[in-house]
Amino acid sequence: KTILGIESSCDETAAAVVSRGTEILSSVVASQIKVHAPFGGVVPELASRKHLESIAPVVEQALEDAGISRDQIDGVAVTRGPGLVGALLVGFSFAKAYAFALDVPWVGVNHLLGHIHSVLMSPSPPEFPFAALLVSGGHTSIYKVSSRTDMEVMGQTRDDAAGEAFDKVSKAMGLGYPGGEIISKLAESGDPHKISFPRSWLDKKKFDFSFSGIKTAVGRYMQVHEDSWHDEKADIAASFQEAVVEVLATKLINAAKSIGCPRVAVAGGVAANACLRDRVTQLAAKAGMSVHLPDISLCGDNAAMIAAAGYYKLAAGERSPLNMDVFSRMEKL
Ligand code: ATP
Ligand code: MG
Ligand code: FE
Repeated sequence: KTILGIESSCDETAAAVVSRGTEILSSVVASQIKVHAPFGGVVPELASRKHLESIAPVVEQALEDAGISRDQIDGVAVTRGPGLVGALLVGFSFAKAYAFALDVPWVGVNHLLGHIHSVLMSPSPPEFPFAALLVSGGHTSIYKVSSRTDMEVMGQTRDDAAGEAFDKVSKAMGLGYPGGEIISKLAESGDPHKISFPRSWLDKKKFDFSFSGIKTAVGRYMQVHEDSWHDEKADIAASFQEAVVEVLATKLINAAKSIGCPRVAVAGGVAANACLRDRVTQLAAKAGMSVHLPDISLCGDNAAMIAAAGYYKLAAGERSPLNMDVFSRMEKL
């Protein structure tokens, strides 16, 4: 079964063709970074307009890269939410119309379930259950994943997402958008132990997060060291990243321990962070756990993960009705 996946929840227009839930025949991601960069963040109206321009060519490109024609598509999977409503609607409406015209089944997919599926697409996916850290621009949560369709939240951020903290710190230092890649690159030449930013452990036995405090702490450091922080950018970046990564990795390992399963996974845009990948791998090795990290190309938003999640929904007989709508905030996976 060959599924066309479509994703347009934020600032990338993406389409992918995936066979049997794991075989990626093509994955096209058209990023809008250049459009939003001058504004220091995603501008919803611009995002919708850009999606509208890109959606048809991106889907055509995905078919061409996969070397298949429209009539070889067996089903369509599309992101239903969470995300920007205007952006979601572009991909969602396109997918409905496409499936209707081709007379194939289609299904709406939770974007976060998609991110989790980026872990399950690897050649050696984890056995169930496992503990998964979903860490992205809008979310930071730990899930107990019990099957391909069944997962429960063990903890989540009470304020900012970790990716959001990277973006805000980068913006505060005048380094641009999106901040994750910029900060992590800069951190490579900095000392992660130079500045001691606060670790927000909250209740150490629970798996909730808070990342607004560290963003404030970085801002305060810049104020106090008004004349010198410009020469310490790399150390600030490295020390900030260290504080965030330490909490994320430690809580993930503890979450896996608490449910008694020796398997951990990381997904979402921040899963591309090398420091986080290394730390989780280290701590897991020490705890005798296996680690499951998606290919870097599947960490950020893409449609292959949506096609994969949709494949299993369709295979289980799930069908979405044509009057289904998108949603902007967390709904059930
Ligand atoms: P969500 O998935 O929660 O709806 P989103 O789709 O906007 O949000 P993703 O595209 O999954 O988020 O991830 C984007 C986030 O990942 C941004 O905040 C970005 O700064 C961050 N990010 C990307 N690469 C890195 C990196 N190497 N290190 C840290 N953060 C990174
Ligand atoms: Mg994005
Ligand atoms: Fe995402």
